[in-house]
Amino acid sequence: SNLESLLDFFSDIKPSENAERILRDRYLLKDGEGKYLEHSWDDIARRVSRYIASAEILYNDDIEKIRDVEEKFYKLLKSRVFLPNSPTLFNSGKTLSRDVFQKNREDMSLEDYKKIFNSRNRHNMLSACFVVPLEDSMEGIFDAVKDAALIQKYGGGVGYDFSVLRPKESSIAGTGGKSSGPISFMHVFNTTASTIEQGGARRGAQMAVMRYDHPDVIDFINSKKNNDGKSVLNYFNISVNFDNPEEFLKKLENDEEIELTHPNSNIKRTIKAKELFDLIANNAWKSGDPGMLFLGRHNKYYALSDVTPVSATNPCGEEPLPPYGSCNLGSIDIAKVIDFVELGNPEGENNDLFKELIYWTARFLDDVIDINVYPLEKIDRVSKEQRFIGLGIMGLADAMYKKDLPYNSEEGRMFMAETLAQFAYYSHLASSELAKERGNFPLFEKSKYKNGFIPFSMLNDDYSENIRQWNNLIKEHFFGEGKKYKRNVQVNTVAPTGSISNLADTSSGIEPNFMLAYIRYMTDKEGNRVPLPYMNKILRDKLDGDLNSELEAEIIEKGSLQNIEGIPEEIKKVFVTSMDISGMDHLLAQNVIQSYLDASCSKTINLPKEATVDDIKEIYKKAMELNLKGITIYRDGSLETQVLTKAKKE
Ligand code: UDP
Repeated sequence: SNLESLLDFFSDIKPSENAERILRDRYLLKDGEGKYLEHSWDDIARRVSRYIASAEILYNDDIEKIRDVEEKFYKLLKSRVFLPNSPTLFNSGKTLSRDVFQKNREDMSLEDYKKIFNSRNRHNMLSACFVVPLEDSMEGIFDAVKDAALIQKYGGGVGYDFSVLRPKESSIAGTGGKSSGPISFMHVFNTTASTIEQGGARRGAQMAVMRYDHPDVIDFINSKKNNDGKSVLNYFNISVNFDNPEEFLKKLENDEEIELTHPNSNIKRTIKAKELFDLIANNAWKSGDPGMLFLGRHNKYYALSDVTPVSATNPCGEEPLPPYGSCNLGSIDIAKVIDFVELGNPEGENNDLFKELIYWTARFLDDVIDINVYPLEKIDRVSKEQRFIGLGIMGLADAMYKKDLPYNSEEGRMFMAETLAQFAYYSHLASSELAKERGNFPLFEKSKYKNGFIPFSMLNDDYSENIRQWNNLIKEHFFGEGKKYKRNVQVNTVAPTGSISNLADTSSGIEPNFMLAYIRYMTDKEGNRVPLPYMNKILRDKLDGDLNSELEAEIIEKGSLQNIEGIPEEIKKVFVTSMDISGMDHLLAQNVIQSYLDASCSKTINLPKEATVDDIKEIYKKAMELNLKGITIYRDGSLETQVLTKAKKE
């Protein structure tokens, strides 16, 4: 079996009705009058593959080769085995005349590709993740508001470090007045995001980060306290940054105080570590915010931390970036791949196929960097000097259903760990391969890679025999070829895939399924609400003859199998949902997965409604003890809507 046969196999499977609906609502291009210019997923696959492949002219003047690359990209997309983040789907080639995409591939000339590449303009912004720096000055702050507005207009998410701003009531030299403080400026960014949303393609999501020792940290932690999901700072997720969580844990244990200071201010406060921690946990219990972020750990695994340390993450937390960094994401649906490849086994039969798939998806994302039009000159520079890509996976939960592996079990976690180790290894091989063909990322010589550097923590060798073998291969790579060749400073990220997993008809990112069955209401042409029942297709196959309309109705009503009589125990154990799994099991999954990601992953630790503040503290402490890069919890029912869940529900 080879890559072609995998891609051909899934190209023949049509998008579900649900995927078609999302395509019609949000992805198919329309003209100014709302008339559709595109009619099917195939049209999008053609447009995006041709547009992105035209970046190949920078490296390649063999027309046959460029056409082949276009065909490869087309098949990756058409099969829905790989999907780039939404901005790439929205904005690739969007202002070009349709004729360009109707031409047969065999008739495409080098000139045609050049024309496409040179046609790009500011409407062709393709990335989902940005970090915009703030400056502690009025001018600096409002420059950032403008930068963020431009990014959000085209569907990108932005993260900011608000620690930079001096605390409220600090003196301002220029005016003799007092600063209104970081939280007041967060409201400015929030209002801007809500204004942009009115005209934009999607919700503007933002991340606000603040250091734990900033004098306004208490106001920050309380800033979303009264949020009901719709009113207060609802375009923000907030996270408190602890550069050194081990040190904070010690302070907690010894009941020590923390000094809150800021370099541009005389204001000094103190707070007990315990009080700060209580406040964070209480608010998270109430509304999910704030999360905790450990940027020190992010920097530890970032190859340019000595040059441009990362200062925040994007809104969903998966992508740490330095000021003016950007990243374009893309995700491989491993629930499809697993039909062809035995994932996680170093001696697995079709490993070459997976390796090749990863090479082509990495090449796609590397091309996106070149054809992308960045909203700011400074972002263009940082993005091209470092060449971040965020290659990730989706469909983990569905893949595990297929293999009868419970998400909340030791064997399940072993599968996650081994699969991610394999994924990371192949992805970094691909980035080195691309470097041989196209050159290293320009700042390579200043990076830690040069001296032999592994950009993720890895699990211990004794975790499993497969892990030991992957670890050896990984070490060999980073202390061998990886010291010479690297095309991208960061390679792997697991995105939420809130929308694209729906397009791919698969489970989102690395999350368990939220529900196994539900009814979605659609509006038909006459304006009637029509129920569209949905059931996880792997479950449907598994239940097969046992499934009748009564049972289906019960699964829809309960969303989970756990309290349904008559379903075999083996099925119940495997087909778990987010809410069937304990918070600790969510966290342990995040831990093994994150051990093989150089960037990070989007993960929500879902907790039942009855979870207590102490439960949350225990989870946050565990996240600090283990080597997690950050943590986000969500207690069932604590908000009607949330930035993340809302984004996920599109
Ligand atoms: N994002 C955003 N607004 C949204 C959804 C996502 O700005 O409504 C950004 C955000 O930075 C997030 C990233 O896009 O972390 C990836 O989100 P996701 O994978 O859900 O996007 P998709 O490509 O599936 O639309």
